[in-house]
Amino acid sequence: MYCVKCGSEEKTYSNLCQKCLIDDRELVKIPHYVKRIICPECGDYLMGSSTWIRPFDGMQSLIENHLEFDELVKEPSIEFDEFPDGTNEFQIQLSIEINIEELYLEIPLSFILRTKNQVCDVCSRKKGGYFEAIIQIRGDGRDPSEQDMEGIKNFLNKSLDLNKSDRQAFLTKESKVKGGTDFYMGSCVLSKSQTRDLQNRFGGKVTETSKIYGQRDGNDVFRYTYLLRLPKMRKDDIVSDKKNIYVVTSVSKSFAFLKDLNTWKKRKIRYDEFNKFNVNIGGYTISKAVIIHEVEKEIQILDPITMTPVTIKKPEDYESEGQETMVISIDDDIYLI
Ligand SMILES: [Zn+2]
Ligand SMILES: [Zn+2]
Repeated sequence: MYCVKCGSEEKTYSNLCQKCLIDDRELVKIPHYVKRIICPECGDYLMGSSTWIRPFDGMQSLIENHLEFDELVKEPSIEFDEFPDGTNEFQIQLSIEINIEELYLEIPLSFILRTKNQVCDVCSRKKGGYFEAIIQIRGDGRDPSEQDMEGIKNFLNKSLDLNKSDRQAFLTKESKVKGGTDFYMGSCVLSKSQTRDLQNRFGGKVTETSKIYGQRDGNDVFRYTYLLRLPKMRKDDIVSDKKNIYVVTSVSKSFAFLKDLNTWKKRKIRYDEFNKFNVNIGGYTISKAVIIHEVEKEIQILDPITMTPVTIKKPEDYESEGQETMVISIDDDIYLI
């Protein structure tokens, strides 16, 4: 085949040699200026008149929507620099790989990015105090402690982060109330599953209630409340029945797992048995103690509070490491932990 333009006998594509093809046809183009509308609060991109999308997908869509390809181009692939934040004008470099029959070409392009800020629908709702659900954290028998709340807040924040592709995954407001804390959430669907996840992780009982708060398109709109009441026994609590003293190692939806401080034997306790135990909150100290002497079944340590030597029977699974060991002092007693 000859090139119809220059007569070259090289391989032709659509009757043109490679050089004439590139000179003659604009295989891919993009306008000199590309406009983006971005939310200054969350960084989302507006596509069309009302669709907001996450920044990476936004960059990709903005470029794809502005590129124009010659009809010969098949399966283009696009690489681009990350767009900088802010409303300055930026030059953005692109590299487009295109494929015409067996010919692969890499075409560099660039455009000037012009940005306009506009607060998105979700951020303006958030600013207006919008919420679909409240996650209420309370306690059975005693209020959630600061430590309980810290664990719960970290868990919720991580979960919001993991769900950030969901634009409704946000916390509007956190409010300390008598007996616990209320979290005002953007998504009722996500709040429901988050409350279940919290229950699996921290134990307790969940109660769900809803009430109508308005109408949208002729349908009732509900607001949901997911109440998680933390159990009487919580992780790291020291509890006792009449005979033994235990540390709570974990709590699930249905059980508490205890470790006997004398023997280190494990016990699994159902919620309905919790009332047989006394919970000792804070009346103990955990510290390091120096090991004085150790034999097969016993260990002698220096009590870190009284500074006197104490001999303790070793639990079966106990293995000392180094010259010191962790102990818990409860009233006048001391245990290895
Ligand atoms: Zn040619
Ligand atoms: Zn936003």
